[in-house]
Amino acid sequence: MRVRAYRFRAYSSKTTAGVLKTQLEAACKLYNTLLHAEQEEYEENKHTMNKTELRQLALDLRKQNQEFQVLHSQVAQQVAERFYQARERFLEGLANKPKNKKPHRYLSLVYPQSGWRLSNTRDVGQGKSKKRKARLYLSKIGFFTLILHREFPENQVSQVCVKLNPSGRIHVIFLVEESESQELSSKEPKNAVGVDLGIARLATLSDGRFLDNPKPHERSLDRIRVLQRTLSRKKFLSKNWFKAKRRLAKQHEHLKDFRRDLFFKLGALLAGEYDVLVLEDLNVQGLIQKSETKKRRRMRLYDSSFSELRAVLEWQFRKRGKLVLPVPSYNTSRECFRCGGINQSLTLEDRVFHCAHCGFTLDRDLNASLVLLKRAGWVPPAAPAVELRPIPPLPSLGLGRQGGAMRQEAPAFRRGSSLFVT
Ligand SMILES: [Zn+2]
Repeated sequence: MRVRAYRFRAYSSKTTAGVLKTQLEAACKLYNTLLHAEQEEYEENKHTMNKTELRQLALDLRKQNQEFQVLHSQVAQQVAERFYQARERFLEGLANKPKNKKPHRYLSLVYPQSGWRLSNTRDVGQGKSKKRKARLYLSKIGFFTLILHREFPENQVSQVCVKLNPSGRIHVIFLVEESESQELSSKEPKNAVGVDLGIARLATLSDGRFLDNPKPHERSLDRIRVLQRTLSRKKFLSKNWFKAKRRLAKQHEHLKDFRRDLFFKLGALLAGEYDVLVLEDLNVQGLIQKSETKKRRRMRLYDSSFSELRAVLEWQFRKRGKLVLPVPSYNTSRECFRCGGINQSLTLEDRVFHCAHCGFTLDRDLNASLVLLKRAGWVPPAAPAVELRPIPPLPSLGLGRQGGAMRQEAPAFRRGSSLFVT
């Protein structure tokens, strides 16, 4: 079984949004109370509370404290679950020690099997503005209207998570357990594509096509930088700080939506044409660290873009039962794909690769993507594409409508952890 997340935009009345906010504050306080109680218990009795004990403690605290009674009992237990997961990750050495959470960073509540109800699924509007809506009732919070932009198996939902984004937008995420359908397709893979990720061109394919770093992406990054600076000048937790914070959050969300949309379309395009995806083994770090310090901060913004692009591409291939081959990335841009010679003098600024050994000249990124293909055991074309071709604006692929509220499904989440995006 694997868990898949379906995320939908949700709308509510102001009152309901207010209730949600109050509950998030209560949940945050409960989390912090649990944290302290657990620490005390450990210090006094050297006893590490297990999951059941923590859940029971959450219920007891809820019983004793008026403030926590606004929470549905199962939601309160999920707060304990969340703390438990955080502590486990710490004990496994995967994360820092759980700390007090700040209310403005505690943004989601989880309902397990009960405490919620989906009803009144209906089609509204006509033609292009046609939408599918549904009503979601969350016990102790109220009603939300969901825009169901895609089908999902309602009767297999194992958890519902409601998230109040820093921008004020609300999303509802349904976790669905689906049986594994990931057997590799029995067909012999026929063709492979190597993908080189970069900053000037987001992706360069071994067939000579490339995806430019789109202008809106750049502009959004610029705006984020400006807003970040504005925020840093405001007094921490002041009214203006929250205002600036919200504006920044909106821009971040906008960027995320834009990016996801683009990446999913690219992934669908490639997975439709190729049987095997060859990527460099996660090491964009190298590229980023080698760049001069002046540009560092900007590069760091790209960091998450790269890992997301990788994740989406990989996921699109795996979903279709196709192969993903990560290969070592060492020296990919310095190696000649034809003779294997190394061009040590190549710098980040050189856009063209020239081989001193065999005299071969090719676009730097295209050469790198061909080297990847070779390292994965595929024979690159004897005469690679010399002309680079841009991938046409992706919406024309007709793979999905554009717009922030439109979302593709997310790659499967690790249950109970990554959902809590703070
Ligand atoms: Zn060469």
